[in-house]
Amino acid sequence: MQTTLIIFKPDCLAKGVTGKVLDRFESAGLQVAACKMTVLAAEKLREHYAHLASKPFYPEIETFMRSRPVIVMALRGEDAVAKVRDLIGPTDFRKAAKGTVRGDFATSIMENVVHASDSVENAEAELKRFFAPGELFGV
Ligand code: ADP
Repeated sequence: MQTTLIIFKPDCLAKGVTGKVLDRFESAGLQVAACKMTVLAAEKLREHYAHLASKPFYPEIETFMRSRPVIVMALRGEDAVAKVRDLIGPTDFRKAAKGTVRGDFATSIMENVVHASDSVENAEAELKRFFAPGELFGV
């Protein structure tokens, strides 16, 4: 069993596809273990996207990710990290197959609907970043 961190990004909520996206995860056997709606703090985003901080487009990502509240979620299940990454597709929506979340709903490289942890190690760090121990439920 693994737990992975998902962020339903501002464009996901603006497009009104949060339920459709969550349905794909639940239909794949994953269970919601934690959930909150929040406007992400700039400092937290800089930590979360530290690997992109030096990129010229980083300020745009920060503005986009803070443009409206997001839903942060923990999903648990067998092989959850890889399973969710397969369901969402690659970062660049132009390379994402139809039937993947990004292939179906993303409208730009930046506005690509969801974040999902890309390794078990990162999932552990990201879950700690966004949830206090008491906010994660042992479903
Ligand atoms: P992923 O979200 O697939 O793990 P990254 O960690 O590389 O991908 O990038 C984080 C997020 O930053 C992407 O999901 C996307 O929203 C944004 N991003 C990445 N590359 C670009 C880019 N070249 N231009 C604009 N936004 C980008």
